[in-house]
Amino acid sequence: MLTLAATLAEPQHFSLAEKLLLIVLTAASAAAFWRRFGAVLDKILHSKKEASFHLFPLGRRVWDFFWEVLCQAKVIHQRPLPGLAHAFVFWGFCAFALVTLNHFASGLGFGFLDPSGPFGRFYFYLAAAFALTCAAGILGLFVRRFLVRPRWLGQKLSWESGFIALLIFVLMATYLAAFFVADTSPSVRILWWAHTLAILIFLPLIPHTKHLHLILSPATVFLSRGGFSQIPPLVGDEDFGLVAGTDLTQLVSLQAYSCVECGRCTEHCPAANTGKLLNPKEIILGVRAYLNDLGPASDQPLLGKYNAQEAVFQCTTCGACEFQCPVGIEHLPILIGLRRGAVNTGAWEDDYGAKLFLALERGSNALGISPAERDKFIQKQALPLFDGTQEYCLWLGCMGGYDPKGREIVADFARVMNYLGASYGVLRKEKCTGDPVRRLGNDLLFQQLAEANLEILAQSKVKKIVTICPHCVRTIQEDWKDYGTPPPIEHHSEFLARHLSRLPSIASQLAQPAANESGLVTGHDFSRADLAANTPGPSGPAAKTPSPEKIVFHDPCYLGRYRNVYDQPRAVAALAGTVVEAPRNHERSFCCGAGGGLTFLGEETGERVSHVRAAELVATGATTIGTACPFCNSMFRDALAASGEAAPQLLDIAQLTARGLPKNEPS
Ligand code: SF4
Ligand code: SF4
Repeated sequence: MLTLAATLAEPQHFSLAEKLLLIVLTAASAAAFWRRFGAVLDKILHSKKEASFHLFPLGRRVWDFFWEVLCQAKVIHQRPLPGLAHAFVFWGFCAFALVTLNHFASGLGFGFLDPSGPFGRFYFYLAAAFALTCAAGILGLFVRRFLVRPRWLGQKLSWESGFIALLIFVLMATYLAAFFVADTSPSVRILWWAHTLAILIFLPLIPHTKHLHLILSPATVFLSRGGFSQIPPLVGDEDFGLVAGTDLTQLVSLQAYSCVECGRCTEHCPAANTGKLLNPKEIILGVRAYLNDLGPASDQPLLGKYNAQEAVFQCTTCGACEFQCPVGIEHLPILIGLRRGAVNTGAWEDDYGAKLFLALERGSNALGISPAERDKFIQKQALPLFDGTQEYCLWLGCMGGYDPKGREIVADFARVMNYLGASYGVLRKEKCTGDPVRRLGNDLLFQQLAEANLEILAQSKVKKIVTICPHCVRTIQEDWKDYGTPPPIEHHSEFLARHLSRLPSIASQLAQPAANESGLVTGHDFSRADLAANTPGPSGPAAKTPSPEKIVFHDPCYLGRYRNVYDQPRAVAALAGTVVEAPRNHERSFCCGAGGGLTFLGEETGERVSHVRAAELVATGATTIGTACPFCNSMFRDALAASGEAAPQLLDIAQLTARGLPKNEPS
């Protein structure tokens, strides 16, 4: 029968032969470790320096390290069960750092944790608790990888992962077993050496396998660019993006070697999920394979053998991969960097792409329509022109100015602004923000568009912008910063949510009196507290309205993951009905397929992303699909029309809001 001893049993002394053997084996293990790890480190350090990298401010980095590495918060949040299993293994390793140090020291006669002393006893028991959870965690991960086998882990069974899982289990089991034997028992020595050998075999395997992430990923998380999809600016006339090994920066190389091959990025990738060539995990592993084979000094192209150009141009830039990655890998700068390389060197040849670039070089919008059509739309809708005195510039964007459905959304949003008494105007002239060319890698054209627009805004004395398009919001607020200082911009969902208490609610059939007769609530960020304060209450005179809708809201990637705006559009949609969720929502929303310039690039291979997402939204049984992006709206419009079935209505949140306005709202 097993009896728990008062403390951990350790061999009382080690012979000289044992000590020599320990030294030789440890040196051999360390040398085998360094042989590979040194080579990896060398490739990372000899990669190009990232010119725009700044270590400071440190606060964000320390927090990310604490939250994502030490607390394992992201891993657990995104995949609770396997995440917790992984966290148990990680925390077990942390607790075992001191135990392992003492283990080897005691083998040489320098043990510093006394098993019978108060601290030693406490610490060994604490480590035993971690050993138990670590053993359970590794067992769970083993079952998942070898028995459950989610498809995004790939076809190939990784026997090295199985072997490493076994080693970790042996480590924990031999440690725990030492609590059940007496110090004088011969099995103490057997357990001690079994534990030692497991460590010494494990150590060199780390850099030779995906377990390299154990060492690199804390650094990757700490050193990440921070923020979402941070595309580093090109530096000088010789920087064309990621063309060859010489263009790989230290950050990209570090990230490539940090990939743990978990497949989370692929699991959520709309391209990989609709039968396209693109697989974000393979993109990262392709960069790693390039570095392994050719190194960072190579001038061989990055696209070709190691990563396919076709795959790189199938990315919608939805960011699901980057958002999901547990080790801080930033896919978008890599994908867009590879596109830049292909576009800037003329290696990318695509008729649709060429047409788009030409339309934007010659004209003002990505749709290639004459600007006179925009003027006609403005006149027809009697949209006020911005003259420098109004509070807001209503930015139309290509979709709002030229796409028929986009125009309807703008018209309805303008009605709501009129109803609220907002002071706004539209610019006489606007150019495309450059969003599609920025994401497709045409930096020269993007720069021209950004600079021209910045000049128009400065000349017009614009102080604040509001727009219906999350792509415009992102591009103006973040990407234009490389070329100037854009005015603050907000998405119409944020604007509407801030004025929620003054908007009529169809859903509750209530009409609230104006909360703020003096005008607009301005000059602060929206928060959940604001939302609660501004949401129409259960009192007030009833209005004659249609019955409430069941609305499924689709989170646009550029509003959700890119801007972290989730509650505001839902609160606005709730004015018109009950908001329900699609299976994939909020941070896990599935892309509509339009982003990254793909909406302008012709037919997709495989299933259409928009069709898959539209079917998912329809399957919720909602009577209305609520959107907050004219690109999503346009993609779903086509997808619903193609389905041939009775489809729910498709309305932007501005249209849902406008439906509740009284017929003769002020103009
Ligand atoms: S950004 Fe979206 S489409 Fe592109 S690789 Fe990542 S998940 Fe796939
Ligand atoms: S890139 Fe990140 S999410 Fe994708 S497989 Fe590698 S570690 Fe996992």
